[in-house]
Amino acid sequence: MSIKIDFDACIGCGTCAENCTFGALEFDGEKPVYNVEKCTSCSLCVDNCPAKAISVDVQQDEKEDIFRDYRGVWVFAEQRYGELEMVSLELLGEGLKLAHSLNTSLTMVLLGHTNIDHLAEDLIYYGADRVLVLDHELLDVYTTDGYTTAIYDQIMKQKPEILLIGATMIGRDLGPRLAARLKTGLTADCTHLGIDAETRNFLQTRPAFGGNLMATIICPNNRPQMATVRPGTMAKAEYQPHPTGVIEHAEVKLFPKDIRTSVESVLNSVREGIAIEDAKIVVAIGRGLRSSKDLVMIEKLARLLKAGIAVTRPVVEAGWYPVSHQVGLTGKTIRPNLYIAIGISGASQHIVGMQDSRCIVAINKDPEADIFKYCHYGIVGDLYDIVPEMIRVLEKQRELVPID
Ligand SMILES: Cc1cc2nc3c(=O)[nH]c(=O)nc-3n(C[C@H](O)[C@H](O)[C@H](O)COP(=O)(O)OP(=O)(O)OC[C@H]3O[C@@H](n4cnc5c(N)ncnc54)[C@H](O)[C@@H]3O)c2cc1C
Repeated sequence: MSIKIDFDACIGCGTCAENCTFGALEFDGEKPVYNVEKCTSCSLCVDNCPAKAISVDVQQDEKEDIFRDYRGVWVFAEQRYGELEMVSLELLGEGLKLAHSLNTSLTMVLLGHTNIDHLAEDLIYYGADRVLVLDHELLDVYTTDGYTTAIYDQIMKQKPEILLIGATMIGRDLGPRLAARLKTGLTADCTHLGIDAETRNFLQTRPAFGGNLMATIICPNNRPQMATVRPGTMAKAEYQPHPTGVIEHAEVKLFPKDIRTSVESVLNSVREGIAIEDAKIVVAIGRGLRSSKDLVMIEKLARLLKAGIAVTRPVVEAGWYPVSHQVGLTGKTIRPNLYIAIGISGASQHIVGMQDSRCIVAINKDPEADIFKYCHYGIVGDLYDIVPEMIRVLEKQRELVPID
């Protein structure tokens, strides 16, 4: 695929060269000069040409022929130290739905060294049609180069139609690198996925413009179609007592010279309290809290409920809690069984991170607060009256039925 320039129609404005982020179009002062080697067929020049002088030079038949080679949905099965990241099981569930819509199969791609075979079996028990195991000593610890090269080689050989990656620290590093090497598109941080049954295009939806609207993005000219998905956004796949999937080991050709970084040591951050992505109950606080001194009261409530503590962005900006506790568009997406929103107004950027919680309780003194549109139970009142009362009741219960 390449682009075609109609020089009769070209008005010599240079807009195409300005918009070409890959340097495939340069402007010589009169007309665009095209370098096919650098072109990724992204079509930005086509869309932006005011004279409509540029078109994608690909016959529909030719494109369909190329795309016909690409079949199957793949999910990057992220693991660390022999344990699967939860997002891998969430994407397994979502990948199965996509594969079903496309009448194709779901492959989980598992990388690591030696202690990963048990994970391959787990993935089969969660319904994967196939687990592709890439086992190599240079894949023992994640490196951008090592993982990119190993997955890229398999994609070039096996040509999947779709590749899903969790938007974790690792996934956010791996996804763009891989997409650039494959010369395909990647939609980051998706919150909803679907298929256009007619074209087989992958519909990738994510918040846009500060969370004020949802944009559905497609990648019609390149394969595979790639997306990263926020952890906690999709429901986890269900355990299958009678699995039918297969495990395949692929040969990995990787050499020390392929990896430009070396991992000297891995330091795990020490977490205090329950991580909000793992907590079944989450107590969330917002700017309704007047002072950081009042956190003592919130932390006591959380302890009594065995809950994690989440916060809105202003609370992070005030320095009261680290960003690892922030929920929302620029924070985490969680779906606990119970989310208690205290002194939170319900801005859309916060709601996107917690709206799938099983039960949402909101406490706010403003009866018109938006949070009441999203909660299952709303308490209109002053948090400084309600939270101490909740603590009193919980402590009373504890006296009657000691928990610890
Ligand atoms: C690009 C972008 C990304 C963003 N990302 C995020 C994100 O990831 N997460 C996030 O949270 N925000 C995010 N924000 C910020 C977001 O728009 C809101 O500003 C923020 O969520 C509001 O936080 P809040 O509800 O704590 O504060 P406020 O909106 O100020 O609400 C405070 C609430 O407390 C209530 N209240 C006050 N006193 C009491 C009391 N005594 N008792 C009971 N209720 C009381 C008030 O009635 C009010 O409803 C983002 C914004 C942008 C532009």
